[in-house]
Parts: sequence; C-alpha cells; structure tokens
Amino acid sequence: MPVLDEQLIPVFDEVVSRNPGEIEFHQAVREVLESLGPVVAKHPEYADAEVIRRLCEPERQIIFRVPWVDDAGRVQLNRGFRVEFNSALGPYKGGLRFHPSVYLGIVKFLGFEQIFKNSLTGMPIGGGKGGSDFDPKGRSSAEVMRFCQSFMTELFRHIGEYTDVPAGDIGVGGREIGYLFGQYKRVTNRYESGVLTGKGLTWGGSQVRTEATGYGTVFFVKEMLTASRDSFDGKQVVVSGSGNVAIYAIEKVHQLGGRVVACSDSDGYVVEESGIDLDLLKEVKELQRGRVSDYAARRGSSAKYSSKGSIWSVPCQIALPCATQNELNGADAKRLVANGCQIVAEGANMPTTPEATALLHAAGVRFAPGKAANAGGVATSALEMQQNASRDSWTFEHTEERLAKTMRSIHHRCLETADKYGSTGDYVVGANIAGFTQVADAMLALGII
Ligand code: NDP
Repeated sequence: MPVLDEQLIPVFDEVVSRNPGEIEFHQAVREVLESLGPVVAKHPEYADAEVIRRLCEPERQIIFRVPWVDDAGRVQLNRGFRVEFNSALGPYKGGLRFHPSVYLGIVKFLGFEQIFKNSLTGMPIGGGKGGSDFDPKGRSSAEVMRFCQSFMTELFRHIGEYTDVPAGDIGVGGREIGYLFGQYKRVTNRYESGVLTGKGLTWGGSQVRTEATGYGTVFFVKEMLTASRDSFDGKQVVVSGSGNVAIYAIEKVHQLGGRVVACSDSDGYVVEESGIDLDLLKEVKELQRGRVSDYAARRGSSAKYSSKGSIWSVPCQIALPCATQNELNGADAKRLVANGCQIVAEGANMPTTPEATALLHAAGVRFAPGKAANAGGVATSALEMQQNASRDSWTFEHTEERLAKTMRSIHHRCLETADKYGSTGDYVVGANIAGFTQVADAMLALGII
C-alpha cells in the first residue's frame, strides 16, 4: 500500500480526529494525500499557507430536516445535506444523492472528490455535493415529488447559479431534477435555469447530459487504448450497475465495437455472452423502473442471472465499475487479474477499495480513477450552465464533440502530470496532482479565506 509523506501524516491524522466515523471521507482524503508527497516537497508555499489543511475542511456544511407526507397520509422524516466544499475555482458544483446509505461521511467523500474532478475538467467550477437518506425505491412519483418539494423548500436559500449548482447522482435523475427545479422556481419566483443541471431538454437542459458520464468514461478508456495503439474492437467488457452511468457506458462501448457481457444492480447481476440488449435494458430500467432480474427474465435462456457471487468473476478485458463506492474489493481484483483484465476505469465514485487498487497496480492493470474517468458528467453540466447563461442550446453532435475533447484533455493532463512528477503512466498520481495544483494555486491567489 502507498505510504503518506511525513509532512502529510499530521494533516491526515487531523482529518480523522476532526471527522470521527466518516470512513469514506477518510478514504478519499488519504487517497489524494498519498499522491501529494512530491508536490509538497517541490512547493513549500502550499504548506506555509496551510492549503492542504484548508482544502480538507469544507467551506460550509448544511444539514436539515426534510418532513413529507406519504400516500397513506403518514408523516415521514428524512435528513438533507449539502456540503459546499471548495469554491476557489467557481460556484460549488456537484450532484445530489438520494439513497438510504447517505450520511455526512458519504456526502463529504463525494464533495472532496468533486473538487479535484471539477478542476481537471478545466471549467470554472468549485466542488460540492449533497443528498438525503431518502429511499426512492418503491415510492410513487407523487411521494417522490412531495419529498423533492420539501427538500428544496430548505435547500433553495443556499444555492444559486453564482453560488452552488446541484445536479443528479444515485437516485436523482431527470424526474427528480424536474420536481426540484419546479419548487425552486416557485419559492424564488425566478426562472433561474443555471441553478440546477441535468434538466429536461425542453426546459433548459443540455443535449448529451444524460449520456455524459457513461460516454465520458468510455471516451477516457478509448484514449487509454489509443495510447497503446489498441481499440475497443472485439473487446469483452463488464459494467457494474444498470443506472444512468452504466447504461450510457454500455451504449458507447457497443458503438465503439466492444461487447458488454454483464451488468448488475444491488440484488444481482446478469451475464449475456452475446452482449447486453441495450434497448431492453433501457426499457426495463428507464421506463419501468424495474430490476436486472426482470431484464434477465425477459431475455430467457440467453441470459444468466445470479443473485450470489460477484460480477467481477465474469471474464473481461475491460472492467467499468459504474454502481457505487467500494463495490470492487481485493478478492474481485484478484479475479479480474486472473482472468486477464487489462484496464479498470471507474465510472462510479471510488468504487475500487484501496486494497483492490494496490493489487491492480501491482499486476500492471491500467487503472483510471473516477475523478478523471467519470468527469464527463460534470463537464457537460458546465456546458449546460454555459448554454443557460447565453440562452442558447447546442446540437447533440456539437456537445458530444466538446465532451470527447474534454476527456482527451483530461487524459493528456493526467499522463503529462504523472510523468512530470516521476510516476509515468500512473493515472491516479496524475489526476490527483493535476486536480490539486490548480485548486491550490487559486487558493494561494485568493488569500487566507
Ligand atoms: P443511478 O441511481 O442511476 O444508478 C445506480 C446504480 O448502481 C443502480 O443500478 C443501483 O442498483 C446500483 N447501486 C447503487 N447502490 C448500490 C449498492 N450499494 N450495491 C450495488 N449496486 C448499487 O446512479 P448513477 O448511475 O447516476 O451513479 C452511479 C455512480 O456514478 C455513483 O457512484 C455516482 O456517484 C457516480 N457518478 C454519477 C454521475 C452522474 O452524472 N450521474 C457523475 C459522476 C459520477 P439499485 O437500483 O439496486 O440500487
């Protein structure tokens, strides 16, 4: 396992003691700090201005009550969060997650990652994240609407197109963004399109935003393949999850000539050697809000469904974890290596455990961290903000080309930076240092704030 630079040990110890029990946040901070040894050695000015300690402390953390009434007339209660982590580069930007596992430690890990990811895009956006422990699964659309309205009735006073611009994440898609924007508009009496991204195409949304995270991850892998004079052609790929990121990662892999042979949800996974039928998957997941087991039942004998074991036991050359944090562990990494996997790229945020990352690294599997590989989602959100600000809307082709160009540029920055700091080919080091230095320099320029 990588070790921390001596100068950074007290910084990490302070994060752990100031944020007790927030294990995902500790994990995310440690992973970045492990890359920063050569940076602090070269730039004493960062330590003098306590840049790293300040970066690890959110600028603002908001926690609020979200009461709402279910279809049976009972009062339900959830907790809402918004962590406005860092605004050195622009307004806070990052999604909202609705999932029962959400607590402050998850929101802070996601917000912390978001700072560096947003910096890597080269767009003027700071880092933030939010959400709730509300579980949309099994809830009617009317219940989801009432929840979103109550959530926004508090959140509206903290956000704005120049302040903080939320988007979707797990459990928050186009439907939820619609309800949230509707309530924002109602309570503020302003049609402020740029306050949320991921909006519908007929009311201020951008082409390609729905597809952006999945497409962007695959564009990033395409760059990795091109760098070794290879391509997706004929490659067998496994994608975990079957939500927004997973579906559009599968779509782009198929367009580029690869074959996705397995996908999953939190109940199990399906394997289909001839390739996942994307039209059916979209119908089951996007229209019917069904399960992967429903997809398998509809496909009949060509698909094998399993509710036990791990999707990472399915042989593949490229693995794209696109579900959730820490879903690919050490045992999974060993299986991938044994089966000849060559590339792992994170469509999700922090899906690979530190042990798994170290094992993949040691085995020579090329590894793209989420803050680089899945940055296409937030980059396209920034394009949505640009279109909103100029009252414009671009074509699908133009927007997709901008996304592809951004992913090329992030890939290039990662490799260039890794090389400059003596870790040639290491995307983790490249992404962390490139993301960090831009934010750190802006923080130095802005003074002690
Ligand atoms: P969705 O809610 O659309 O889909 C999430 C998928 O992951 C579902 O298939 C879900 O299955 C599965 N999943 C969620 N929790 C678990 C779990 N504990 N164990 C196994 N599977 C699980 O979310 P997104 O596709 O938007 O997000 C997926 C990941 O990508 C997240 O890590 C998110 O932070 C990251 N991301 C998303 C971006 C975006 O633009 N949407 C941008 C950048 C990163 P089930 O239905 O059973 O819960």
